[in-house]
Amino acid sequence: MAKIIFKNLAHSYLPNPKVNKDYALQKINLELEDGAAYALLGPSGCGKTTLLNIISGLLIASEGKIYFDDKDVTFSDTVDRNIAQVFQFPVVYDTMSVRKNLAFPLRNRGENPKYIKKRVEAIAKSIGMEDILDKKASGLSADAKQKISLGRGMVREDVNAILLDEPLTVIDPHVKWKLRTQLKALHEEFSHTMIFVTHDQTEALTFADKVVVMNDGVVVQVGSPQELFEKPAHTFVGFFIGSPGMNIFRVDVTHDIVSIGDVKLKLKSSYKNLNGKIELGIRPEYIKLSKDSGDIELEITRIEDIGYHKIVRAKHQGMNINIIVPEDIKITQDFKYASFDTNHLFIYQDGWLVEPTGGKS
Ligand code: ADP
Ligand code: MG
Repeated sequence: MAKIIFKNLAHSYLPNPKVNKDYALQKINLELEDGAAYALLGPSGCGKTTLLNIISGLLIASEGKIYFDDKDVTFSDTVDRNIAQVFQFPVVYDTMSVRKNLAFPLRNRGENPKYIKKRVEAIAKSIGMEDILDKKASGLSADAKQKISLGRGMVREDVNAILLDEPLTVIDPHVKWKLRTQLKALHEEFSHTMIFVTHDQTEALTFADKVVVMNDGVVVQVGSPQELFEKPAHTFVGFFIGSPGMNIFRVDVTHDIVSIGDVKLKLKSSYKNLNGKIELGIRPEYIKLSKDSGDIELEITRIEDIGYHKIVRAKHQGMNINIIVPEDIKITQDFKYASFDTNHLFIYQDGWLVEPTGGKS
């Protein structure tokens, strides 16, 4: 197993890329720790598969370098990289039994038959297929076939990393959560470096120790699920993670005063030299409603009761505000004020988080 390091790595599918939008991946400098479970999260088309294929060697990056520990593998072929990859759709040998499918990567490497038998049986147990090992793959459902693909990705102990590209796409929603839990258990059992690609935040947040969030070919933040929730480095992360995501308002900031329309609020700290597009971000969890007073006035437009809490949709001077309220608090139209928790309020410049220059004021 190995640490994976990207140095000024970028990729364009065009022969002469010039501007940022010509790149499927813009410059990435990143280190993925050995043995950790990563999720690569972002919307369709943001460059997830491109990055995964550059790691496995199916694709050679047009710029920059990739290292496994201190070995430069930028131009190494897939065999040398020693990576297991599981794709979106099952790749199984229909005429072979489940056992033979699972054993395939080990036989290819000329492992000893005793070891193969033991290892295949252990993996089969982990994916819940120990009772159908001698069944032919052809008669199995798409779910079961994808489980075989997952098992085959997991079977070699000596790989540098296991890459999974949206592997639960074909899995029935009812069994998805179960497989996700099994994958996490497999990671804990075998502690390979795993990189799990998904566009689904729930999948990413439940599987991974660390999430790499991508948007438009840019890695916008790498962090634990909690870090992404508590301190989004970019408005995209604030908005993409959470449901509903972070509230983001266009504002002006002068020192420690933020103006949202004609409302002025005092911030905990002050900011200097801001320019460009300035926004304030606050998660719906950190806004409180009141009948009597608050930071801003609003009008509730809808209340959605989703069981463990309520989502309140409101408007302030044409601006939408989402608020999450605990289940046991009764909310009515006469809640006309909201207050922002300044400990959880962030300022963004052209999308990126800005740290304050002054301390508490
Ligand atoms: P994701 O896996 O996040 O959906 P991809 O890595 O597949 O994203 O694609 C990133 C961008 O690169 C997209 O704009 C896509 O259209 C483009 N792209 C992907 N593969 C190719 C290719 N073989 N040739 C040209 N453009 C491609
Ligand atoms: Mg993809």
